[in-house]
Amino acid sequence: MTSHNEMSLDPAHPIDQTADAILGRHPALEGLVTPFASLFKARALLVEKLKLGPHCIPRPAGPPASEAPSLMGVNFEPFREPLERAAESMLKAMTASFPALSRHASLLADIVKAGRIDFVQLAGNYLETGSQGLVPAAEAAGVSPDGLDLAVRLSLSAVLEALVSPADPETESPFLGKGFCPVCGFPPSMSFLDRAPESPSEFLVGGGGQKYLHCSLCGHDWLTLRHQCPVCGTDDPENRLYYQADADTGERVDVCQNCKTYLPCIDLRKTGPVHHLDLAAVGMVHLDIMARGKGFSPVARTPWNMPG
Ligand SMILES: [Zn+2]
Ligand SMILES: [Zn+2]
Repeated sequence: MTSHNEMSLDPAHPIDQTADAILGRHPALEGLVTPFASLFKARALLVEKLKLGPHCIPRPAGPPASEAPSLMGVNFEPFREPLERAAESMLKAMTASFPALSRHASLLADIVKAGRIDFVQLAGNYLETGSQGLVPAAEAAGVSPDGLDLAVRLSLSAVLEALVSPADPETESPFLGKGFCPVCGFPPSMSFLDRAPESPSEFLVGGGGQKYLHCSLCGHDWLTLRHQCPVCGTDDPENRLYYQADADTGERVDVCQNCKTYLPCIDLRKTGPVHHLDLAAVGMVHLDIMARGKGFSPVARTPWNMPG
């Protein structure tokens, strides 16, 4: 017998809904949105499988007074099995979703299987130093650094999503207005303005229009100050501007004249519910291009916002 809830529990469903909404607004983005949707669906299915495992991230002991991200310095050795499983699965998905990457992805899969790349060490390097931490391994193995970057990012993000319990709001307070994720330390790929309350009882507990940053790696969302630059911290209105491709779509790109960075922003009060934020960020790539054309750099490097 099928239950009424089964449809909504399908991890692919929110991604399909988001893809349909984006392509309804921006049909020209199909060549980018469809392959990323298929990659994110493979990752979501993997996360569901990994969640069934017996693992949990050991939280650092002591009071949450520190402003260091929770995962800083965590040893990933206990997660070797899920990380290697994630790598195998994500490399397959890369081959299926991006034919142009298939040669590199299958070469990488062979190298990982043969034990010539240590995914646990790479995951640790990636958390500490981002893409730069992968360059020596890519060179040693003779694979493209961008291909390795995508494989490590997808695998690590799947494992983090499966293992990390949502951060305790108390541990988040030192991070208000900070430009890095309280969980993994990565910068945000986008921000969003929370939707308006739908019922009077919701209205009593809190407003709508609050601004959150969305992590470019682990997908955690944290509250930020609405007018503050997440990179340099300025809230000077002369420096904080935004651009839109169309008025009233709820999509815009916030820019900072002080540090010359940009961050796409989605206003959920105008767009309605967005079911998958990573795909929503892919669907704002025209705003990345617009901001880049005006001389701004992205707050976070993502697989879809780098030129060429
Ligand atoms: Zn994060
Ligand atoms: Zn700034």
